[in-house]
Amino acid sequence: MSRMAVLVLDMLNDFVTGDLKTKRAARIIEPIQKLVKAARAHGVPVIYSNDAHFSNDHEVVKRWGKHAIKGTHGAEVISELAPTKKDFVVEKRVYSGFYETELDSLLRSLYNGLGVETVVLVGLHTHICVRHTAASAFYRGYKIVVPRDGVQAFTRRDHEEGLRYLKNVYNAEI
Ligand code: ZN
Repeated sequence: MSRMAVLVLDMLNDFVTGDLKTKRAARIIEPIQKLVKAARAHGVPVIYSNDAHFSNDHEVVKRWGKHAIKGTHGAEVISELAPTKKDFVVEKRVYSGFYETELDSLLRSLYNGLGVETVVLVGLHTHICVRHTAASAFYRGYKIVVPRDGVQAFTRRDHEEGLRYLKNVYNAEI
């Protein structure tokens, strides 16, 4: 596997301990810590893709209620996984990390402009933001890897079905 980037999705206070918390999020913190540490040590870019909502965003108003409002504590990455100066942070306002963000052009600019080939997706939630970001990555031709112990969802069922979907539909390596 060559020219990888690690994408850390929505490991934010509101999803781990705040307004949209799930206990299941705690178990992926340590595996993600290990992964980003190894990535940094090997010169693999680490990119945080974070919800940063306006309070009138569709997701907030029509579905989930208030969460990860831009500029609040709830929208910050949990302290255990705080980005370093070498990492990239790309804000998003919908499930997909690619939608109307600079993520794709960032990925294309890395590795001296050769661009990233494989995205490793970790974070929350397997069946929502991971899935939608995987869809966008698939449309753009990226190879997708999803570590089983690096993603989670609100329920075991959401998680397991999410993984199956990623494998079956986007040919993600689980
Ligand atoms: Zn959101």
